[in-house]
Amino acid sequence: MEQPPVEWRLPTRLVRGGLTRSPHSETSEALYLTSGYVYDTAEEAEAAFADENPRYIYSRYGNPTVSMFEERLRMLEAAEACRATSSGMAAVFAALSSILEAGDRLVASRALFGSCLHVVAKILPRFGIETCLVDGTDIEQWRDALKGGTRAVFVESPSNPTLEIIDLPEVCSLAHEAGATVVVDNVFASPLLQKPLELGADIVVYSATKHIDGQGRCLGGAVLGPATFVDGPLFTFLKHTGPALSPFNAWVLLKGLETLDLRIARHSASAEAVAGWLASRHGVRRMLYPWHPTHPQAELARRMMLGGGSIIAFEVDGGRGRAFRFLNALKLIDISNNLGDSKSLVTHPATTTHSKLSPEEREHLGITEGLVRLHVGLEDVCDIENDLAQALAD
Ligand SMILES: *Cc1c(COP(=O)(O)O)cnc(C)c1O
Repeated sequence: MEQPPVEWRLPTRLVRGGLTRSPHSETSEALYLTSGYVYDTAEEAEAAFADENPRYIYSRYGNPTVSMFEERLRMLEAAEACRATSSGMAAVFAALSSILEAGDRLVASRALFGSCLHVVAKILPRFGIETCLVDGTDIEQWRDALKGGTRAVFVESPSNPTLEIIDLPEVCSLAHEAGATVVVDNVFASPLLQKPLELGADIVVYSATKHIDGQGRCLGGAVLGPATFVDGPLFTFLKHTGPALSPFNAWVLLKGLETLDLRIARHSASAEAVAGWLASRHGVRRMLYPWHPTHPQAELARRMMLGGGSIIAFEVDGGRGRAFRFLNALKLIDISNNLGDSKSLVTHPATTTHSKLSPEEREHLGITEGLVRLHVGLEDVCDIENDLAQALAD
């Protein structure tokens, strides 16, 4: 694919990166809703399958609209290569499955998105992979866990829902000493607020369903990293197991990228304002926002991130009953386990996203019965605060 002029800055790349126009010279990216491609001759088909002639063969392998999305995201992440997937979980599973094999050891932080924890703790061990979970904020636990020889490290930072911050430079350096490949789930920070590859990670995964789409329309995911891995074992895995991104969803996500910097700036500024406002509210305890000075790792978050992101966690006095009453009293903010949408969304992790964990595991992760997770959307910040205020007073 043609490289953009090197002087293009980020907003320009988000709007124009990866654009390849068809012979019709359309303005907006073309949507190629096709599963297959045709050949002029049998010889041409033979050459395509012999890898002699790079071209589209089948949309499980590649599709022009999907390629435009991959290239735009690759430029944003400044990665060597990018492959898109049908969802964020497909990206996580494909990345880990393309690195690990039976007999390997995986070390992961315990504070993970529910499905990520299921893959790491339940599915991968069925294929002979040993999984070790650590408290991601405790460097000594990382040091101990990495002693035994480790093939891969998987972390999420900030974590869902308690916004734990992993010291990426430190953990990546320990992991590399142990010979492990580091995979970072960067969904909560988004590609704009944290650059895991610059902080030492080898591979970055996204659920594009969240801020990249940003308007709650479709699922998608991506894996980014060195071309030797992404276009090598990862591409082979994706090609043969089939979690291909639909061209339609790729088109929606391309349009999402065009406004990502504007939206993330607004989400982050509004969330920071709401966090500051919440911190002093009567009836609110343990307010967690990476950018707020009361976060136990605020200094580390400010070192690694360019903004605090859209998500806040806080506890309401009075446990589950009070938390449910608060959620039910909200009039503007919707109850939803999703996040990254233009709409503000709130969830009660203990009974939804993290309900499959045992009470002990939840306690260990700080997911109490009064904990609420709020994704701050693009509505006016005063309207968001007014809604929270009336529901807290209920
Ligand atoms: C949502 C999410 C995922 C999974 O993404 P899907 O697109 O829903 O499959 C993975 N990790 C994190 C941190 C998420 O928030």
